[in-house]
Formats: sequence, structure tokens, C-alpha cells
Amino acid sequence: MPESIWYSSAYCYTTTRNEAGTLNTHLPIHSITKPQQSGYQLSVNAYRDITIPGSTPAAPVAIPPTQFYSSNDIRITLNKRGGRKYTRMSFPVHAGVFTEVETQDLQLHFNLNGEIIRAKGKGSGWTHPHEWLKRTMGNDWIYYSTGGYTGVYETTGEYYLPNMPYTTNGLLGGKPFQLDEVNTVIETWPERITDIAETATSPPDDFRHFLQNVAKNNLQSLAAKAADLFSICGGRSTVLPPDTRHVDYNVIPLTVANGCLYKCSFCEVKNKKPFSPKSTEAIQSQIQKLKKLYGRDLTNYNSIFLGEHDALHRGSPTLLETLDSCYQEFGFSTNYMSGCNAFLFGSASSLLNTPESFFKELEQLPYTVYINIGLESADQQTLDMLGKPISSKLVTDCFQRIQAINDTYSTTEITANFVFDEGLPDNHVPSFLHLVRDSLDRNKPKGCIYLSPLKFGSPSRAQTFVFNRLKVLSRVPTFLYIIQRL
Ligand code: SF4
Repeated sequence: MPESIWYSSAYCYTTTRNEAGTLNTHLPIHSITKPQQSGYQLSVNAYRDITIPGSTPAAPVAIPPTQFYSSNDIRITLNKRGGRKYTRMSFPVHAGVFTEVETQDLQLHFNLNGEIIRAKGKGSGWTHPHEWLKRTMGNDWIYYSTGGYTGVYETTGEYYLPNMPYTTNGLLGGKPFQLDEVNTVIETWPERITDIAETATSPPDDFRHFLQNVAKNNLQSLAAKAADLFSICGGRSTVLPPDTRHVDYNVIPLTVANGCLYKCSFCEVKNKKPFSPKSTEAIQSQIQKLKKLYGRDLTNYNSIFLGEHDALHRGSPTLLETLDSCYQEFGFSTNYMSGCNAFLFGSASSLLNTPESFFKELEQLPYTVYINIGLESADQQTLDMLGKPISSKLVTDCFQRIQAINDTYSTTEITANFVFDEGLPDNHVPSFLHLVRDSLDRNKPKGCIYLSPLKFGSPSRAQTFVFNRLKVLSRVPTFLYIIQRL
């Protein structure tokens, strides 16, 4: 195995095929150690082998080399290499390949399509130098705050707290969208790009093209692109699985079935669509349209979200086929972001009805799969109050199956949601603790439980104390579920 390889326009991989026709893709997992004028020296740390019977690898996307330009207090780093994996650090670490534009008072990041993805102010009015704004593919700006670093990691599993500009169920966080500094950055970045394009002194062609491209991706076209995304998927994803936090919510949404089975009366994110599976042709058509929409920036993705609210109920054959198609079409074996993940929601009924063979087959795929099940409560009175039409027995049976799957399979994690709030029946908490503590003989490393505050838009600080008490008592990793849409 080489200790280092030279790298100029993309990154390399090798493939071999055995006598049975099975293709092995050998991906180098490496880190950049020494920038050069025309390329990078990469240290190869490890190789990850992926085997897909009879598959052909997608052509690797050529990522142009990093280039630097500065003039009149402007600095542009074209195609800057960020992390190839999502990393949790107490300081910002950005993943993927992006272009950074920096002025004395502003830092802006753009994806490989020239669309703005992050921004932060550098002036004294900006709340904290480690905090930043992120623009999602749904064209929302999310403010990532440190939360003063007190309890954010313990509560959410992340160092930074996403603050949404819309009403959600968050207990923590401030009101960053009421700050002038934050709104100024969101509203004025296009003018600043125009200024930069006008004042930059003779930028080389690549930089000029970049600035022209960014100018084309103005507020209107970014909003139109988000609308195109929703149109391809048959609507906006009103909620992402909590596990998508592992990839900073950067998932490609692909609808395999509309709606959900239960239509619980308490639920704020459901839609009116009855559960209806998408045909294989409709799924394949979405994949092609998504591939086109994400364009050059597809290489910065390694994760899909199979929507909507009960993709697991779509059935094993279609799910396995869809995962395989996404792997091929989205180029997950060769994308800049390493590894690949699939996220989906399921219900208690769909999980109990899923054959064991599905999980065995999942284990053979190159994906890490996260399936999130909304259980809400193990207490019948609470389920009735929530208008969730399932029995507490079904919840208990489902919880036991979740444990069995998590104990058996290394690359599949089933997580579950429970509600918590003031005013729930007295037996809700004891029945929850019976499941997550008494029924387990040891602490479990996986199978997160997400506790979801019931009320939207009315954070109750007192509930964070309740949460902390439940977390301490739970024998599975337990976090707060902050509902985020795409
Ligand atoms: S909680 Fe889940 S199953 Fe119930 S209505 Fe909401 S999306 Fe549907």
C-alpha cells in the first residue's frame, strides 16, 4: 500500500473483478497533507473495499484543484477541500468541497454549483466566531449556535445547535433571526458578491467564472431550485429523521411512498396523503431528476433520505433495489464524501412486519442504514390521548425487535422516538423507563432514543431538567429530537 499518492484533478480508486464477475472497488481514505500549485499530496490512511455484485462504478467526478486569489481585502479560495467525513468537534469543521469568499467582515461558502451554502459575519456584532449560518437545499437559513456550549452536546449529541427560522419543537436555543447582524448577512450577500466582482483586480478566468456563476444563482434562482426539488419529490419533506444529524442533515430526499399509516392526531408534521407507494418507475425517474438537479455538487453527498413518513412500509424488494440504484446513480462509491448512509422512517407495524431477510440483505450493502420508528409512548392512556392508533403491547413488541436488530446487525441502527411534555398521563414516564431501563440488562451503544417535546413554538426550559433525568436513567443513548425540515 503506498504511503502517499499524487493527486491533481480528482481522487483515484481502483477496481478489480473476480472470476464470478464481482466488482471490487478499492477506495483510498486519505487526507490532504501538502497543498501544491497544481495538486495535492494525499496521505493514504486506509483502504475501504466495497463489493457490489455485477456493478459498474459511476465515473468519478473531476474536482478541479484548489486555487487562491486575493485583491483589495478580498480572498477567494476556489474548490477548498473540507472533511471527507462529518466530524463532531467543538469548533466548526466543514465537510465537502466548497469555495470560500472572505472579506474583512464576511465569510461566504459556495458549493460546486456556485450556490451559497454557508455564511457568517466577522464583525464585533456577530454573536460568536464559531457560529454560522447554513442554507439548506430547501432554501432555509439555519443558524448554528454554540448554545454557550452548556449541555448542547449532552442534549442533542452535537456541539452546535441548529436554530430554525420556522416554528419547531426546540427547547433550547435563542432568537438569532431577530439579530440585525444575522439578517444583514442573509439579505445582503448577493450585493456583496456584485461588489466583489466589480472591485476585484483582474481576477484570473476561473475566479471570474466563479463570480459570474454565483451572480446567476441569485435569491430568485435559489428559491426556484428548492421548488424544483420539492416538485421532483412530490412535496417538501416536513421532517427529517433525527439520525440525519450524523451527516449534518445533508441528505438527498427520495420519496418511495407518500404519507403514513396512522395519521396520529397529535402530529404536527403529517400530511393529508394516505399511505401510497410510489411505483418503481416513479422512483427511478426521481433518481434521474435528482441527479441532474444536484449536478456537480452531487460529489459532496453520501446520504439519502427515503421519504416520506413510513418508507419501511414500502417493502423490502423495492427498498433494496432503490438503495442499489442510488449507490450507482449518485456515485456513492467515488464521491468526495466517503462512506454512504440511508435514512428512513418506519412505523411499529412496518418494523414488526419486515422480514429478517431484509436486515440480512441490508448488512451486505455498502450503506450504514438508520431507521427511525415513532413509538411515542408505552402507556396505552398516553397513546390514546395522542390519537396514535396502536396498542402499548405493539410498542413493547416493537421495542424488543429494535433491540434484537441492533444487537445482531452492525451497519443498521434502528432508533425510536418518544414524546415527553407536561400534562401527559402519569404512567407515561414509568412505562418509558420500564422499556429503556428495566427491560435492558446492560447499557447499549446504539439504538438511540429521541425524546420529542410535544409543543411547537413554546419552549419550556423546565422540560430540559425532565429530559436530563430521563437521559441519565436510560440504558440507550438518549437525545432531544429537534424537528428539522428539508
Ligand atoms: S407521528 Fe408518524 S405515523 Fe403519526 S401522523 Fe405523524 S408522521 Fe404519521
